[in-house]
Amino acid sequence: MTELILASHNAHKLSEFRAIVAQALPLARLEEYEGPAPIESGVTFVENALIKARAAVAQDGRPAFADDSGIAVDVLGGSPGIFSARWGGAQAGDEFNRRLLLEQLADVPDEHRGAEFVAAIALVVPSTDGAAPREHTVVGRWPGTIARAEHGTGGFGYDPIFVPDGFEVTSAELTAQQKNELSHRARAFRALVPILIEEFGS
Ligand code: IMP
Repeated sequence: MTELILASHNAHKLSEFRAIVAQALPLARLEEYEGPAPIESGVTFVENALIKARAAVAQDGRPAFADDSGIAVDVLGGSPGIFSARWGGAQAGDEFNRRLLLEQLADVPDEHRGAEFVAAIALVVPSTDGAAPREHTVVGRWPGTIARAEHGTGGFGYDPIFVPDGFEVTSAELTAQQKNELSHRARAFRALVPILIEEFGS
């Protein structure tokens, strides 16, 4: 049976991953990584995901995957990007971050409010014969626009102000099941499935 360690301390992301993994790999057993969170010193989503997955493998010894994600706004040149969780400062929470972003975009017309959620997932598989661990990375993107005000109570983070392409509601107004099928994390995880099958055979 595939046994994977999921290196994330974000309860919302953990529950999304659990649902996504259960759907894509019903036989996989997922365990949460309990160790210390490393400093996310990378400058890209992929680098930060790798740092987290490597830290889990170093502590636990079993194959681990981790994600790093955020929202990239076109008119801000891809920011908040890797700074999404602390866009309003180290102490800022989701609500403050959303309000700040809405304020920054207050004068930006509808046709220039494009954005995307991005998730990178890194899978690190330790080798049993002393060779270097095998490292895989995938990226998922979920395009949309930034709304003018908050709507909906589902999800977390920037969900209440993100309108996915093809919808007229925010991702906080989608059902958990819809989000878990469409999201950047779901897309990245789907790209990881063939790699997991190649690594673990099921
Ligand atoms: P991380 O935990 O370092 O990957 O930071 C991710 C941050 O990006 C979160 O704190 C959210 O602000 C934002 N984010 C990532 N994924 C989502 C999502 O699915 N919905 C809303 N916000 C998200």
